[in-house]
Amino acid sequence: MTDHTTLDALDFARKSGEIRDTIAPFDFSRLRDQLFSPNGKVHYRLTGGRSAQGHPQLTLHLSGKLELVCQRCLGALEFELDHDAVFFLVADENHLPPPEDERDDVEYLVADAPLDVAGLVEDEVLLSLPLAPAHGDANCNAALQTAQEQKESPFKVLQGLVLNKDRNF
Ligand SMILES: [Zn+2]
Repeated sequence: MTDHTTLDALDFARKSGEIRDTIAPFDFSRLRDQLFSPNGKVHYRLTGGRSAQGHPQLTLHLSGKLELVCQRCLGALEFELDHDAVFFLVADENHLPPPEDERDDVEYLVADAPLDVAGLVEDEVLLSLPLAPAHGDANCNAALQTAQEQKESPFKVLQGLVLNKDRNF
């Protein structure tokens, strides 16, 4: 089971902390719904520090593999995790920048309560998943079946023509 590591994010940033850990995919309760199987692993590395402008921040790197459900054939679809995120820390909501000043390449994290590390990792895993995961044509059972049906169809059409002919004459 996931250890519910919590930390003081601002302190972690100040001390340039680092955590590396591996979590089993089924230990994430929200992620579990989107998985084909418990196979795979989520590796993460969370580091604290400062941005080039001196802003306290966390960086999160995710790697590993998951088995998602293909939306075309409902089979197993291997997905490689490779995702980075940067979080600017603010002491409370009043310190959030106005929307027009928000940067697109970072996320903002209000550090007014202990940070649930596994929760943050799960949020980012969910964000990094494709909206409609699916195999490419060469690997998808649904696509192969369609191709098979298309291959057979000329004969069906021919049969249809013959039947119609019989009926008309
Ligand atoms: Zn598929």
